[in-house]
Amino acid sequence: MRTSIIHKTASDLQVAPNLADYDAERRGFSWEAAGAELGLRAQRPVNIAALAVDRHLGTPVADRIALRFIARDERRRNISYAELALLSSRFAGVLRSLGVGKGERVFLLSGRIPELYVAALGALKNGSVVAPLFSAFGPEPIRTRLALGEARVLVTTESLYRRKVAGIAAELPRLAHTLLVGDDGGPTDVPGTRDLATLMSAAADRFDVERTSANDMALLHFTSGTTGTPKGAIHVHGAAVAHYATGRYALDLHPDDVFWCTADPGWVTGTSYGIVAPLLHGVTSIVDEADFDAERWYRLLDQHAVSVWYTAPTAVRMLMKAGAGLARAHRLPALRFIASVGEPLNPEAVWWGEEAFGLPIHDNWWQTETGGIMIANTAAMDIKPGSMGKPLPGIDACVVARRDDGSCEEIAAPGVQGELALRKGWPSMFRGYLNQDERYRKCFCGDLYLTGDLVSRDADGYYWFVGRADDVIKSSGHLIGPFEVESALMEHPAVAEAGVIGKPDPVVGETVKAFVSLKAGYVAGEALRMELLGHARKRLGAAVAPKEIAFLPALPRTRSGKIMRRLLKAREMGLPEGDTSTLEAGA
Ligand code: AMP
Repeated sequence: MRTSIIHKTASDLQVAPNLADYDAERRGFSWEAAGAELGLRAQRPVNIAALAVDRHLGTPVADRIALRFIARDERRRNISYAELALLSSRFAGVLRSLGVGKGERVFLLSGRIPELYVAALGALKNGSVVAPLFSAFGPEPIRTRLALGEARVLVTTESLYRRKVAGIAAELPRLAHTLLVGDDGGPTDVPGTRDLATLMSAAADRFDVERTSANDMALLHFTSGTTGTPKGAIHVHGAAVAHYATGRYALDLHPDDVFWCTADPGWVTGTSYGIVAPLLHGVTSIVDEADFDAERWYRLLDQHAVSVWYTAPTAVRMLMKAGAGLARAHRLPALRFIASVGEPLNPEAVWWGEEAFGLPIHDNWWQTETGGIMIANTAAMDIKPGSMGKPLPGIDACVVARRDDGSCEEIAAPGVQGELALRKGWPSMFRGYLNQDERYRKCFCGDLYLTGDLVSRDADGYYWFVGRADDVIKSSGHLIGPFEVESALMEHPAVAEAGVIGKPDPVVGETVKAFVSLKAGYVAGEALRMELLGHARKRLGAAVAPKEIAFLPALPRTRSGKIMRRLLKAREMGLPEGDTSTLEAGA
């Protein structure tokens, strides 16, 4: 029978949980002690890649498989910790030989291929800053991010380069080196680029890791806001301590685990938990190079004996559509812990986990800016389906109300909605938005970081997601800034103005819908709609482009001229329009 709570007992757990006594662990926790477990001491260098990979050399972990790549045709390539140390050192050597140094930005644009992981770790060893891009982006989001991030190096594949980068390369004068991975594994010969494999084979096996400090920039992750350009969230080498601690608490990683994080490294989950956290723990990760496919996913869980699986609500909902029967057709004796992140996980999905796998799905919450998991349903904790869980040890969360004067007030009473805030001090907190200090400053209220998410907390300390406080769109777990989509539409000669919203969707959370009004002389109709959809897809890529476009004679605007996306959304959904006192007359 379905109750409002899933009680966990010792018999539900196949291994002793890392977080057995929530209250005791929280009381006894300190970030210093967590860092000491990784061998960190004050004033000593800290380098994420050295901790994640080289630290294991000379230990039994060195011979363990670090990453098992599964190609689209399901051929495997195993890379041990020792081999990963060597390959990443070579890539670091490649960068050094090109004169690329500490703090310089190395962008990665590829699918989930071995070279991406090697380049990320190698760049970190070199003290360079890793900036991953989602390979489904079109040329425009790629160009914007390379320019904003002051890219010095781009690592990509030959086909992605030809399709998405060659046409914008001239607009990126700071981009000094483009290193290509051949599509068929062979060498590349594309004007203006270098062949990565050739450079790697000429590089030395040994590399002296750059002596980075805990506060040196390590990763740059772009995220979208409601307005303006994307924001490059700065993360530092010291974040490794949080990746390690959260991997232990929220994902319950144990040394013998086979771990599968299904997220793409183009997004923060795919780096923090697809690369860094499992390597810090010395576990084996599987990396599937192919896209979602229900049959295939069950086969991989089965064949590779995945024990801990970290996925996303959109994927869970797609599996649900394929039916629990398909899941049950696979015996998955190794699977013992399932977690999900990125969007609200419906209570139905938590229960479906029980039905399909005999395991609930553990929702957890975090965002690009927090760098790591903050709030989670952990292995030993009772689950309230629909709740994101409780703050992890070391994380001090609260619910606040913002006042008009910019100050904020903590809401102590349970059940009251407000904005989720986190007290500064955890190691993976972002340290800035690159070159956008004002936007960074606005995220804080005293020593509280304001997350932009509306939540409530119940009397037992569980947090419940209510919605975003802004207009950003979450589609398939990816944040999409309406402004970026509107800007691309506005580039089309027919478009006078554009307003973009997230339209609720039962599988992907939200889909992107655009409303446009046309310039004089253009006629709304099917032909133009198709042309605009095609234009947006070409510029933005399939992951970001609108799925639907509707024509309006004029868009509702505030008196100060801002498009009222909130109103577009309310009208789309047939909801009350709310306060329209700032609406421009006639809109
Ligand atoms: P991103 O920075 O792209 O990782 O997106 C972070 C945003 O995704 C958060 O601010 C939330 O709005 C949403 N999000 C992440 N995890 C959850 C969750 N477990 N439940 C609800 N929303 C989530």
